[in-house]
Amino acid sequence: MIKTDILIIGAGPTGLFTVFEAGLLKLKCHLIDALPQAGGQCSEIYPKKPIYDIPAYPEILAGDLTEKLLEQCKQFEPGFTLGERAETIEKQDDGTFVVTTNKGTQHQAPVVAIAGGLGSFEPRKPLIDNISSFEDKGVEYFIKDPEIYRNKRVVIAGGGDSALDWSIFLSDIASEVTLIHRRNEFRGALDSVDKVQELKNSGKINLITPAEVINVIGHTKVEGVVVHQSKNINEESILECDHFVPLFGLSPKLGPIANWGLEIEKNAIVVNNALDYQTNIPGIFAIGDVNTYPGKLKLILCGFHEATLMCQAAYKIINPGKRYVLKYTTVSGIDGFDGTRKEAPKAVVKKIE
Ligand SMILES: Cc1cc2nc3c(=O)[nH]c(=O)nc-3n(C[C@H](O)[C@H](O)[C@H](O)COP(=O)(O)OP(=O)(O)OC[C@H]3O[C@@H](n4cnc5c(N)ncnc54)[C@H](O)[C@@H]3O)c2cc1C
Repeated sequence: MIKTDILIIGAGPTGLFTVFEAGLLKLKCHLIDALPQAGGQCSEIYPKKPIYDIPAYPEILAGDLTEKLLEQCKQFEPGFTLGERAETIEKQDDGTFVVTTNKGTQHQAPVVAIAGGLGSFEPRKPLIDNISSFEDKGVEYFIKDPEIYRNKRVVIAGGGDSALDWSIFLSDIASEVTLIHRRNEFRGALDSVDKVQELKNSGKINLITPAEVINVIGHTKVEGVVVHQSKNINEESILECDHFVPLFGLSPKLGPIANWGLEIEKNAIVVNNALDYQTNIPGIFAIGDVNTYPGKLKLILCGFHEATLMCQAAYKIINPGKRYVLKYTTVSGIDGFDGTRKEAPKAVVKKIE
């Protein structure tokens, strides 16, 4: 059981900034995210796009913003459960909540902050009847740890950036990489398409287009896939492999959170924005893109604001009766959980003559 003060569901920009604001109040956080990396939409959908409305950054790439947020919250030592979806929540007799993921990992906290954005990004799965029986037995929809493909035979399916980039990356790690796409044209970046073509010419990637994987074969794990080549209507062949990785993109879904008894309006969680972004269940907050209230704007800076106010309310739940006096970080400095102290600079007093 992982125990923490604030359990944050969603490691997007809102969730990451919550760790910093909670840390200032000496509250510890643990984050769960269905994706294998932090950053939410910023790292999953548009890491290379510049953002222009982050205060004090005239321009910053979404991927770089994620790096900065991770750097800022690192001193407060957050825990992460990545690549797992928060599935169920149960209130305990002592008033805490236990959240269990789809992989069975359990987390316990007195406060839950749902920073789930558009919802958990679910992989778009190919329409192959038996595919679910091979999940985690050689079929993966995300690449979490490229090392598991070392010296293995990997078949990747898809025509976007993920399929192209991972084929390129794994060509140096796997013993064999085959990229299968149902069209001859790819949707990904042109330089990635050129690179795949180069690797095909040098024999480091097998490229099969236009074609589709129509079946997965194996006993206890993946041993091969059946490939249907669209050019020759009835041509089906078996390709032996250890892993089949369909990378058809991700679609966001509010998912299991929708069944937690929270008040939902148009796929978003209704919160009390006049006070602290608490939901209809005391102790459960919803911040960032996932919530709704009159005048709501789905912007990163709004998520940061909501996280800040929510942490103040969480402090009162976790430390009942204790008064908190807001101190500016410019005055108090920041104490990291590792004992390091970032001193606030000495005040410069300007004498007015
Ligand atoms: C192309 C594009 C451009 C944009 N440009 C801008 C811009 O210029 N300026 C701006 O302010 N905003 C912009 N946005 C919007 C901005 O990205 C969002 O407002 C922001 O990402 C919201 O952050 P969040 O942390 O609330 O949610 P998200 O970034 O969506 O992160 C939520 C995380 O929660 C996880 N999650 C959800 N449910 C679960 C669950 N049950 N279990 C585990 N994990 C779960 C998801 O996997 C996800 O990683 C843009 C969005 C897009 C798509």
